[in-house]
Amino acid sequence: MTAPKRIAILGSTGSIGRAALDVVAASPGAFEVVAITAFSNSALLAEQAARFGARRVAVGDEAESVEFAPGVDVLRGALALDELAGDPDLDLVLNALVGSSGLRPALAAIRAGNRVAVANKESLVMAGELLIPMASATGSELIPVDSEHSAIFRCLKGTRTEEVEGITLTASGGPLRGMSSEAAAVASLEDVLDHPTWEMGRKVTVDSASMFNKGLEVIEAHWLFDLPYDRIDVVVHPESIVHSLVRLTDGSLLAHLGEPDMKVPIQFAMFYPEPAPVAFGRCDLGVIGGLSFGTLDETRYPCYGLMLDAGRIGGTAPTIAATADEVAVEAFTESRIRFGEIASVIDATLKGVRAEPADEVDHILAAEDEARACALSAVAQLVS
Ligand code: MG
Repeated sequence: MTAPKRIAILGSTGSIGRAALDVVAASPGAFEVVAITAFSNSALLAEQAARFGARRVAVGDEAESVEFAPGVDVLRGALALDELAGDPDLDLVLNALVGSSGLRPALAAIRAGNRVAVANKESLVMAGELLIPMASATGSELIPVDSEHSAIFRCLKGTRTEEVEGITLTASGGPLRGMSSEAAAVASLEDVLDHPTWEMGRKVTVDSASMFNKGLEVIEAHWLFDLPYDRIDVVVHPESIVHSLVRLTDGSLLAHLGEPDMKVPIQFAMFYPEPAPVAFGRCDLGVIGGLSFGTLDETRYPCYGLMLDAGRIGGTAPTIAATADEVAVEAFTESRIRFGEIASVIDATLKGVRAEPADEVDHILAAEDEARACALSAVAQLVS
């Protein structure tokens, strides 16, 4: 038997992080959990550290005070994550942090040449321009965790580059798929959080309903697979069984199919390049019965179009759009703005903040600050 893989899980108390620990528990002896981190849920973090024997933990929120078992090295504050991610003694860093907090640790892991399982799509959306060249310079391998990107990654493995015409991401259409544009614009928080196929965190569920998430994923795919935007498209597939497709030059398609369970792509990334076991059920087409597909009506999902525009503009534009969305989604979940107004906030912020080159982390973080202020004032105007 090979030695256990030494892993660090950044964001172990979130939905991806908890699923990753389920993967660890399902394959005893396959992984050694070296380090785990949480922003504020340190009670759960302490429980996870004890259960999985993690010797290093980081707590983002300095105010949190929870007792860890003796012998556990407790780091605090923002820089702690960079230190853990850049540990050269790791086999894998799973970046499951939320939003822009994942950016600096992603840089630290890649700079150290570590293999990174990327669940934090914002790091690529905001800083693909920086991270991708750095990864090829240090030899750091980026393994996607998003189900769509994991599917494409797997389909591309056996395909010659010159045979690839493009890629197609599938989209479930989210919880509001059957609604008219008018009804969707005033959808309740309850409707929006009721995702038909995927169980995910709150922010990403709202982003699925608006399809902003699919815009983020197109940009993520652009960076991960080095493809221009005109070679990436989206098809609606409500059952979420076909996770994505590669289009070949002869007009045929390669697809990857599986149950809509995030543990499958998480497990794939964690075991990679070794094969993963059947730990979370098989995909049985006899039981599934039928699959359906449809074209994406972009006019129905303005947030998707805005994010894609930002991707095409490039530089700090994706950071500006992503930050505006974060502010707007928070305002929506606090019932301060309507669902349809999320797009207005993103639009106003993209118009109000000028995109600059994203060639330095400081430029990206400055764009984030400026976009946050602009988006907050856009929300305030809608509320008044
Ligand atoms: Mg996805």
